[in-house]
Amino acid sequence: MDFELTEEQRMIQDLAYKFAVKEMAPIAKEYDRQEKYAREVWQKGCEAGLVGALVPEEYGGPGYGFLELALISEQLSRIDLGMCLCVVAATFGSEHIIFFGSEAQKKKYLPRLVAGAMISAGAFTEPDAGTDVASIRTRAVKDGGDYVINGNKMFITNGTICDFMTVLCVTNPEAEVKHRRHSIILVEADRPGITATKIQGKMGVRASDTAELAFDNVRVPQENLIGKEGAGFYQLMHFFDATRTMVASQGVGLAQGALDKSLRYVRERHVFGRPLAENQAIQFQLAEMATRIELARIMTYRAAWLVDQGKTNPSINAMAKYYAAETAVWVCDKALQMHGGYGYIDEYDVQRFYRDAKILEIYEGAKEAEKMTIARRLF
Ligand SMILES: Cc1cc2nc3c(=O)[nH]c(=O)nc-3n(C[C@H](O)[C@H](O)[C@H](O)COP(=O)(O)OP(=O)(O)OC[C@H]3O[C@@H](n4cnc5c(N)ncnc54)[C@H](O)[C@@H]3O)c2cc1C
Repeated sequence: MDFELTEEQRMIQDLAYKFAVKEMAPIAKEYDRQEKYAREVWQKGCEAGLVGALVPEEYGGPGYGFLELALISEQLSRIDLGMCLCVVAATFGSEHIIFFGSEAQKKKYLPRLVAGAMISAGAFTEPDAGTDVASIRTRAVKDGGDYVINGNKMFITNGTICDFMTVLCVTNPEAEVKHRRHSIILVEADRPGITATKIQGKMGVRASDTAELAFDNVRVPQENLIGKEGAGFYQLMHFFDATRTMVASQGVGLAQGALDKSLRYVRERHVFGRPLAENQAIQFQLAEMATRIELARIMTYRAAWLVDQGKTNPSINAMAKYYAAETAVWVCDKALQMHGGYGYIDEYDVQRFYRDAKILEIYEGAKEAEKMTIARRLF
């Protein structure tokens, strides 16, 4: 058993952290306040080689695995989760092309994502179907050589700024088995009939774009089908089983960032005539925060490593994501408490971390969905 990262992995980690400190930290507060998508962070992320980590070398990417992606996403989240999404989720949904796409789809889209010429989105959730994603209603009907798509999608990351999206649709409603009714179809964002509306007023990750989408008789050629017709639900589960490790790493990084800030604050803040840090009650709290973060980190790295070894374990991945997300929420609560009243105002970053952390327990499967996966395996 070797728990050491390779030299290349440590370099990736270092590159991502330095990028976050230089390009994200100075502007994170303002973008959060304005709820503004951080386009320049995405552009600089492309230049730094941080976008499209999973894209194989033959399609212009670095061909990293999920462990390297986790290292990048952890270090970016240590500074700002919303901006981390502008980098690591700029290719969200394109994993379907990597896993199941045709050669033509790979050649057409993957190099452009890495080069910063395109942004993707993954559109699965609907207004009435999130956790129970098999109950989605967006319909794709064959007509001539096309699919005609009608329906609505909800909470789609990059929805108003993407160039294309991978969309979960019902193509085979007659299939006896509910899970064989879906397909994933690539839809270019400029197709007539698509309306994308930015969702304002998010609690956190406000530098990331989130949108509601409407599809009104949107025509795409049948060659835009990704993988096999009727296999969309299984493809989506395969996708989540792998990408949840990235969300877990966001939890680890965000929690670490909140701990970093707390350590700095308790040394500077004097209460009862001495630094807050000299109180053992505070030290014990910090020790517990650090312990939980380390546990979440080990679970996350192992889960990502298993994916890269071709030994994906949905239960281990669900545990990592659920535990890392809960750790982030718990750590941020302790971190804000240590900051006292100052922690409650937006001059201090810790309140942004506190707000951002909650999404980790909701997106890419709420924590209850993860517990369902874990429990299923137990029985
Ligand atoms: C900022 C943001 C970005 C997002 N990005 C994307 C994206 O890019 N693409 C995309 O497709 N989706 C995206 N989502 C959607 C997200 O994945 C869903 O919100 C999530 O899957 C939960 O679905 P829901 O909101 O419909 O909740 P629901 O399914 O309505 O569930 C509500 C609550 O009940 C719990 N629950 C549900 N079923 C059970 C049960 N059987 N037992 C116990 N508890 C249960 C859930 O865990 C949840 O806590 C995003 C959401 C947000 C807020």
